[in-house]
Amino acid sequence: MTHADPQTDAQHTQQELFSFARSTRGEIARWGFIPTTREAPADAETPSHILLARAGCIRKVSSGVYAFLPLGLRVLRKIEAIVREEMNAIGSAELLLPALMPIELFAGTKRDVEYGDLLFTLEDRHGRRQFLGPTHEEVITEALAACVPSYKSLPICVYQIQTKYRDEFRPRAGLLRGREFLMKDAYSFHAALEGAGGLNETYDRMHQAYVNIFTRCGLDFTAVEAEAGPIGGSASHEFMVNCASGEDTILVCPASGYAANVEKCEIGQRAGPSVGFFVGEPTGTLEEVHTPDCPGIEDVAKLMKVKPENMLKSVVFKVAARDEDEAKKYPGDWWVVACVRGDHDVNEGKVRDACGCKIELANVDEARKAGFEIGYVSPRAVVGKPQTLLLVDPDAAAGFDDAKGKSRFWVTGGDRKDYHVKHFNWQRDLGKDPVAANATKTDGSKADCFFEVASIRNAVAGDPSPRAAGATLEARRGIEVGHIFKLGTKYSTAMGFNILDEKQERRPVIMGCYGIGVSRTVAACVEMSCDDNGIIWPAPVAPYHVLITLIKPDEAELKAAAALADELAARGVDVLIDDRDERPGVKFKDADLIGIPVRVTIGAKSLAERKVEIKHRKDTGTNALVALSDAADECVRLLEA
Ligand code: ATP
Ligand code: MG
Repeated sequence: MTHADPQTDAQHTQQELFSFARSTRGEIARWGFIPTTREAPADAETPSHILLARAGCIRKVSSGVYAFLPLGLRVLRKIEAIVREEMNAIGSAELLLPALMPIELFAGTKRDVEYGDLLFTLEDRHGRRQFLGPTHEEVITEALAACVPSYKSLPICVYQIQTKYRDEFRPRAGLLRGREFLMKDAYSFHAALEGAGGLNETYDRMHQAYVNIFTRCGLDFTAVEAEAGPIGGSASHEFMVNCASGEDTILVCPASGYAANVEKCEIGQRAGPSVGFFVGEPTGTLEEVHTPDCPGIEDVAKLMKVKPENMLKSVVFKVAARDEDEAKKYPGDWWVVACVRGDHDVNEGKVRDACGCKIELANVDEARKAGFEIGYVSPRAVVGKPQTLLLVDPDAAAGFDDAKGKSRFWVTGGDRKDYHVKHFNWQRDLGKDPVAANATKTDGSKADCFFEVASIRNAVAGDPSPRAAGATLEARRGIEVGHIFKLGTKYSTAMGFNILDEKQERRPVIMGCYGIGVSRTVAACVEMSCDDNGIIWPAPVAPYHVLITLIKPDEAELKAAAALADELAARGVDVLIDDRDERPGVKFKDADLIGIPVRVTIGAKSLAERKVEIKHRKDTGTNALVALSDAADECVRLLEA
């Protein structure tokens, strides 16, 4: 894809982006309400959860709900400030939408059903149902629909930074997955997709603004291609912080730079078996095995002592045509059986693309009635069912194992509850020659089901790259901090937001939406940048830039600290002074924990020589002795390094 025009304000050099530099005067504060503790919360496992709590940045109120204490709030505000600057720079205007909204807003687009239990709902005193916004497409679309009559007012791009509510099934890792969290969400509205003022232009600018934001936050991240998901639409990118503790898996091709999330990632040309798909002699007589209480691949594999890669997994879908064309292609009731190897996962988006029609996971009871014993379905289940399409992934369609030089041994479902079969053979057990397109039987008679080899599984590490011949995909873990979507007309159509175009014709407005997890970004910064002793804040988001620790806060030390702090503040540096009446050991431990990037220590001995000790939080070595008169320069140098 193309990104924003290099001439726009949003483009900066890497150096400019990752700099703490500020033109405003810095702030000076004494150690106040920073309740540090040695104890990690009992439920905390990830570094950011443990360290943000221990450093007195956040405090749990209930599951997935946190209070931001002064230090944590300062980080949140700094990230917000970066987000605001970059949003304003691309011409997006800030507004604030309500968190509390009437349920009718979501019911109109059926998102009350789509969100289901994720939605926090309540009833007001008059018995009217309300909800707390998990996202805000409807309310903003309605607002614009009421005020924008024609294409002449477009494009419009607005954003807010606001608290969102999602009743996550499993809130986890502190700020990483909360039930109440801070999000920046932006929405853009257009008369056209292409050209000046079109959605694509704004999308590209937004993409660049996100690159700027996460670079300025000091994060190591990858922008990956992503499926549009339940929010709908045609194209999207996720911004993933590269981090081993991340929840999401992304796949990257080191040769071409292609990166995508698991749901979206394409797979390059896979080498089929040299003898062709479905070919190979049976490995034995088809044999039924009793496998009680083993609905999952892993359980069956253990019980039958086979590797999941020698098993076939079949997932049953029902065709749900969206329009006349699709209905014409699949008239009546059609089933789709997607078959992949046991160690692979069916990708619903790819199955949909292979069918060329919308599909839905089959209802278990309905499928059973139609002869698909869910949990035990094998490819044999399609035999004799004329309204069925069997899609087989290339790895599952291999009847012959080139590496071993012999036929492949397959275990698959027994098509009845609690049974599996071994020695499955494609040619023998499908009762036809499946190699022929649309399964024309070997005797020339018409097939009784339809058959296709198609790439329908999630990509995994080691798969061929779709962008560079010979290269393979690598897997990485990531934390999703941002997500941008081309929504198209999903919401404008559902909510009747039409405008008059140049030809005075009414058309639905084209939309984009763009989210950033602001509170999640706080946690991502810590995940990326910490050590055994505590946080190491990247300078641009640090609650304070410099921590001045006084060994024994007497008048001389306090005076020196005040003078240095004043000099630093004049240069835009935020300074925290630890003048507590505590043992130096306690103060140094706390300094490590709260992670202020530059540390100055003032003690009687060095002060006698008009010197102070300075070090960067990430340096493990000893402090450098610096003349008091050079101390401010040295601090700024370390911050900018
Ligand atoms: P996820 O897949 O992590 O559940 P999502 O794709 O549902 O997130 P979006 O609707 O894309 O989330 O929301 C935009 C951004 O808000 C996400 O990229 C993420 O950074 C942040 N976010 C979403 N859910 C949470 C949450 N429960 N806690 C904190 N931040 C969140
Ligand atoms: Mg998302």
